[in-house]
Amino acid sequence: MLILHYTGMRTGADALARLCDPQAEVSAHYLVEEDGRIFQLVPDDRRAWHAGASFWAGDRDINSRSIGIELVNPGHEFGYRPFPQAQMRAVTALAGSLMRTHAIPARHVLGHSDIAPARKQDPGEKFDWLALAMAGIGLWPDPRPADGMAWDGNEVARLLQSFGYQVTSNGISWDDHIARGKSWDEATDSALTAFQRHFVPASLGRGADRDSVAALRALVRDSD
Ligand SMILES: [Zn+2]
Repeated sequence: MLILHYTGMRTGADALARLCDPQAEVSAHYLVEEDGRIFQLVPDDRRAWHAGASFWAGDRDINSRSIGIELVNPGHEFGYRPFPQAQMRAVTALAGSLMRTHAIPARHVLGHSDIAPARKQDPGEKFDWLALAMAGIGLWPDPRPADGMAWDGNEVARLLQSFGYQVTSNGISWDDHIARGKSWDEATDSALTAFQRHFVPASLGRGADRDSVAALRALVRDSD
């Protein structure tokens, strides 16, 4: 798997220092600066500590099966900003090369928020996953017109789970969801938010809207 992050610190130098500090117990294979410089911090075949408590498609030990790339960006806490062109070009080249070298499938190119939706927001909705997908890195939804029709919350929870997200509950019924006027449960809600950050950023915060459902149905169908 290939997992993308943002550093979430004020500067790239701060992030580099922390990622190289044994006391911090956090590490990643690569760091990509906003100006496009790439630092390799851990060899590809060694286990790094970038995923933490995480889950994807039944696997919980993501650190043992993934390469982690940190993108320098202050993140939601310190002034989240767009990822510059030079950084996007660098991460696109790096990710493409890693996918070829390690035979990483497109469906296994994910964000930290995908594998830890309750704890993490990175790399976040400003990261241009579409540009990456157009370079052959990762998936992008290609919905059909019918994919945006008639859904209920139980189906959304099922789809999120079958795509790979950790949806712990079997779901509160759609009627209860409506009656409570909010999401069906926190795990499903977090998974939907993570899905939107990655695949439908324009729908972030809008709940299970038409575009999100269409994207989810398309991805589950096409990645089978
Ligand atoms: Zn992260």
